[in-house]
Amino acid sequence: MRRGFKAEAKRLALELRAELGLNAHGPFDPYAFADEYGIRVIRLSELSGPARDHLLQREGSALSGALIPIATGVAILENDAQPLARRRTTMSHELAHVVLAHEFGVSLAADERKCGLGGAQEEEADWLSGELLIPYEGALRLARADAADEDAAKLFQVSLAVARWRMNHSGARTVVRRTRTKWSGARR
Ligand SMILES: [Zn+2]
Repeated sequence: MRRGFKAEAKRLALELRAELGLNAHGPFDPYAFADEYGIRVIRLSELSGPARDHLLQREGSALSGALIPIATGVAILENDAQPLARRRTTMSHELAHVVLAHEFGVSLAADERKCGLGGAQEEEADWLSGELLIPYEGALRLARADAADEDAAKLFQVSLAVARWRMNHSGARTVVRRTRTKWSGARR
């Protein structure tokens, strides 16, 4: 990931949330976001026949989401048979690719945080989607309150794995731990 990207993503996610009237302390709404930006969302259940079967059967791996070029720009194809928390992560990941103006192609995903694009673009989309789903500020408030991963998952409507990832890797818990160590040291 290029230098400075994480700080940029942190700011950008808050700006994008603010455009939807959302602060850093509640669930992100990828569907409202797509709507706001005129990004069409095509649900797999809306497709019929061979196209649908093809996408569901390829390499034995279920499609979770993909960016596909359409005449007016880009659309997101999402597998709406998956659990909502999973869909929200997939949607946020694909939206992050759109926001970051990445190249795209149809891809299959076995991992909720990856779409198969690979390389730096994939890392950037993964990080930005994380900031959209659970912003650093939101994670920090929870870390200060000693919230469990389950609480974070529930509040932000994400899977437990995504909540754990954000609480442990956004820097929130690390910052709280360091601050407490410093204070307890100063008191001695
Ligand atoms: Zn991707």
